[in-house]
Amino acid sequence: MTQPQPKDSPRKFSGDELVVASHNKGKLKELKELFGDRVKVLTNAEDHGLDSPEETGTTFIENALLKAQYVAQKTGKPAIADDSGLCVSALDGAPGVYSADWAEEPGKPRDFGMAMEKVNKAMAGNPDKKAYFVSCLALAWPDGHFEVVEGYSHGTVTWPPRGENGFGYDAMFIPNGDTRTYGELTADEKNATNHRADSFKKMLARCF
Ligand code: IMP
Repeated sequence: MTQPQPKDSPRKFSGDELVVASHNKGKLKELKELFGDRVKVLTNAEDHGLDSPEETGTTFIENALLKAQYVAQKTGKPAIADDSGLCVSALDGAPGVYSADWAEEPGKPRDFGMAMEKVNKAMAGNPDKKAYFVSCLALAWPDGHFEVVEGYSHGTVTWPPRGENGFGYDAMFIPNGDTRTYGELTADEKNATNHRADSFKKMLARCF
């Protein structure tokens, strides 16, 4: 698939339908709320009978882009995709783009308790606790044009995990400016300032 570079001035979304390149109902709901009436019809990959392409990229941008471009090419409509993960300073940015993979073992459902233990073990007591979540959002058009943005949430990792809210690595991540983990924040508190809110805001400003 060709990957032309985006031009300096961003292309604005126009048209009625935008396809969310994800099968995750939660992400679709989150995006629906976010876009409000900026997008008339928001559908997802499943509505178009599409499967998910393999996430073969080695960066968040590559993965977000390959998902968005796959759906844009298949549907002939603009498509938006996100890719996100946790980057730990003491681990040179791992698990990073492989955040979901660290929760996987053959034949078993994803286990983020295990993934968090892997992170803690790999840190081996390193006093550098800095970490950040990143969210990359890609908007791709069927003609090959695309726009990408990244959002961040900076903080530290802690052990043992705390809190039952959220998902993934939330229970071991304390955002800067708070003493609670994301697992201890309410959904509203987390959503107000997290990496996805940041990338959505940047995408809205750029393309909508
Ligand atoms: P993906 O973008 O759906 O591929 O998600 C990558 C992985 O990053 C998820 O499975 C989570 O483990 C992790 N992740 C991304 N965002 C968050 C978050 O807000 N909290 C906790 N974990 C997250």
